[in-house]
Amino acid sequence: MSNQNVENPFVRPGHDHASCISAALDGAEAVCARRGGRLTPLRRRVLELVWRSHQPMGAYDLLALLQDERGRVAPPTVYRALDFLCAQGLVHRLDSLQAFIGCGHAGGDGDGGGDGQHPAHFLICQDCGVAVEVRDGQLNGAINHLAGRTGFAIADETIELRGRCADCQN
Ligand SMILES: [Zn+2]
Ligand SMILES: [Zn+2]
Ligand SMILES: [Zn+2]
Repeated sequence: MSNQNVENPFVRPGHDHASCISAALDGAEAVCARRGGRLTPLRRRVLELVWRSHQPMGAYDLLALLQDERGRVAPPTVYRALDFLCAQGLVHRLDSLQAFIGCGHAGGDGDGGGDGQHPAHFLICQDCGVAVEVRDGQLNGAINHLAGRTGFAIADETIELRGRCADCQN
């Protein structure tokens, strides 16, 4: 198989994930400062736990991790933290997996990433479990065109494409 023209956005095992986490947390601080949201220690910790890997994590897994370190934590505590993080665009909910994944664009490159809820398009590998948020101008254009043509007001634009990443096919 020729992958020469493939621009594989999937992270490799062994990459510098600590820097993914610190970039995400720095981005979250910046977004909250700009938008006036309060990144409480609990919300920050939940975000950090979501960022444990690039694989989406379910709310109950998050709850279990929090309980490991804090003793009893009521489930609504976790749900409220996730609601906040989703509303800020720092975390996305993947409905097909009923799981959460950190936004890879938090802190913003001027395109709305991590700055409130924003269109999010994901490639989800069913083998390694990694989900990657991708940006594609042509896809955005096509969706905007469709919305305009149909007079449809999009309220939530999360696209989840499931399959196998280039690495897992090899
Ligand atoms: Zn990483
Ligand atoms: Zn995002
Ligand atoms: Zn994969």
